[in-house]
This record gives sequence, C-alpha cells and structure tokens, in this order.
Amino acid sequence: MKNMLIAGNWKMNTNVFESQKLVEYILGFVKTNATLKSKVLVCPPFTSVYAIGQMIENTKLLLGAQNCYYEEKGAFTGEISIPMLEYCGVSHIIIGHSERRSYFKEEDEIINKKLLAILEYNLTPILCIGETLDERNQGKTFDILINQLDKDLAGLTGDTIERVVIAYEPVWAIGTGISATREQVQEAHDFLRHFLVGKFGEKANRVYLLYGGSLSEKNADEILSIENVNGGLIGGASLKGDSFCSIIQTAEKYII
Ligand code: PEP
Repeated sequence: MKNMLIAGNWKMNTNVFESQKLVEYILGFVKTNATLKSKVLVCPPFTSVYAIGQMIENTKLLLGAQNCYYEEKGAFTGEISIPMLEYCGVSHIIIGHSERRSYFKEEDEIINKKLLAILEYNLTPILCIGETLDERNQGKTFDILINQLDKDLAGLTGDTIERVVIAYEPVWAIGTGISATREQVQEAHDFLRHFLVGKFGEKANRVYLLYGGSLSEKNADEILSIENVNGGLIGGASLKGDSFCSIIQTAEKYII
C-alpha cells in the first residue's frame, strides 16, 4: 500500500487576498478531479488561516499551519496555540522546519513539546528533519537523522507513531532549486522507514514519509515514484497553482 500527501508550505508569502486566489485555483482542481486519492494540504501564513478555513470547509482540501506553540493559552506574546488553529479548521501543523531551527533557534526539546501537544489535540504534526550540506559531506547524514528523530519523537509509542507525518528535507535542497537525487532520496527514505519500524514496530510502516527540497513538477515523477516516498512538502512550487496541481496529478499515478 502506498498513500500520498501533497503539502504546500507557503512560508511567509501571500496576503489574505493572494491566499484566497491560490486556494480558489487548487480547490477548482480538487473539485474537478473528484476521484483524487492523494491527500492535499495547504499551509498558508497565519493571517490567512481563518479565511482559507472558511473557503475549504466541507471540501477534500486540508488546511495546515506552519508553526504553533505548545501551551493552550496565556502570556506568550506573539504565539499561536493549537486550539486556536483547530478552531480555524487546521488539521496538520508543520514543526521543526529547518528555517525555524536555524533562523529562530528552535531546538529539539521545543519541537518535541510541540509534537506531543499537537497529538494531544488529535491533530497531525508534520515533523521536518534533514541534514546540512556540511553534515552530508562529512558522512553524518544518518547520524543527524537518528539524533533528530530520537529527540523530536521522545515519548511516542508504537501506537502513536502512525499519527505523525515525517518530512525528510535535506537543508541544502530547500529553496535552492537543487533537489536531492533519486538515489539520495531513496537511500534516506529506506533508512527512515527501517529505523522507524525498528524503533516503533509495524505501525511505522504506515507513517507518511514526505520528501521536501526543490520538489517541482519537473522532478515530481522521479521522486514520487520511489517506494518509501509518500508525498512531498513543497515550498516554491506550491505558490503556483498549476505547478502544485501538476505535482498532485503525478502523485496520483503512484498510489497503490
Ligand atoms: C520547504 O519549505 O519545506 C521546501 C521544501 O521548500 P522548497 O520546495 O522551495 O525547496
């Protein structure tokens, strides 16, 4: 069995009006292709989350957020809680994105708290992990992935693991236009599947393993066809309706 999740991470792009225009396009595609089996998710900036939630209510399009805080409410200026997002219709929340790890110094301990809190609210965390170019060149890729998974997934059991989505995003491939090669993606995803099943048991076979890093309509076919790739987390190409929808169409070919 191979499931697919195609997720658009819009990052700090699009105002409310632009977000609505983009969703109109994607929604048109999803409605026209009523038999789509892939899950399709859009993660707009916080300012657009409520408006998009209204637009996609009762449709097959899913709504995600790019971050959250783990406390429910209180004196945490500038933060957004999980129940606030849930109220807007959010089902998935990205955590541990490399941009948050590097620019905002988000550490594994915080990422783990967010992950556990998201599960507590019955939403789905999309945990991003990945190595830098230096780490890859030093042959440390798998050590880095193991270290991130051990820390970020602390407290999870064999029963809860299947509720987590994991996005393998080599840092050097994000926003650079240079995707990992088919061989690199296959090697990393096979390793991740093996590691997760070893650590958590059989249910880890059902974890969605997404690839992220300059995924586009041009390389979607060679990457999404890989056995242990269950979709993509897409930045740049998700901001263009036609590119994003073309990736969804490609994903459909590989659902078993
Ligand atoms: C991302 O932001 O997670 C990402 C993969 O970006 P891009 O597709 O632009 O590399």
